[in-house]
Amino acid sequence: MGFTVRQTIKYEAETDPGFAPLIKEKRGCEKLEACIQCGTCSGVCPLSIYMDHTPRQVILLTRSGFRDEVLKSNTIWLCASCYECTVSCPKDIKITDIIYSLKQEAIRARAYPRGFPIPVLAKEFYKMVRGFGRTTESFLVVKLLLKTNILAGLKMWKLGLQLVKSGRFGFVPESIKNRGQLQQILERVGEGNGTNGGPKK
Ligand code: SF4
Ligand code: SF4
Repeated sequence: MGFTVRQTIKYEAETDPGFAPLIKEKRGCEKLEACIQCGTCSGVCPLSIYMDHTPRQVILLTRSGFRDEVLKSNTIWLCASCYECTVSCPKDIKITDIIYSLKQEAIRARAYPRGFPIPVLAKEFYKMVRGFGRTTESFLVVKLLLKTNILAGLKMWKLGLQLVKSGRFGFVPESIKNRGQLQQILERVGEGNGTNGGPKK
């Protein structure tokens, strides 16, 4: 079995000098520059074989300022947040947190791969939790299908019907009692500067 190694010449003109400083400002991303490119993170990552850039490459591209290459990569959306890379990194770099920040930035800049459902799901999930403190699965699935693949959704009508009949899909949005407190908590933990996992406004 052989491997195909993708080699692309990168030019300094493609870089965004403000990108690495922007990511380093985020919580958990402070040690971006400390990476020694040992590749441990890529070696332990269970999903790196499916990624277009390994975690090590994502760190390198990010600190070098290749904003578009990173934000359009499937790596940040395939990451399963297992934290294996983070606990194995010899330089204590919080790679998973860096990937979270890259997701936030990709959503904010609408730079994720076209038609890719995971960013759309992440965005809708966040909006729902932000507004109601809970998610309503039926609403979430419908929104996802409308925004990504409505035909696939129509083909699943039988499954949807079964879920409605079994009570798994409801049509009343779920909500916590005191939504005002939730907003206050989110403000306190830094939603205003985009550091708590939600998209920056
Ligand atoms: S394990 Fe840490 S130091 Fe090694 S390449 Fe990954 S981020 Fe860099
Ligand atoms: S947290 Fe993400 S990048 Fe790190 S090892 Fe797990 S899947 Fe790979």
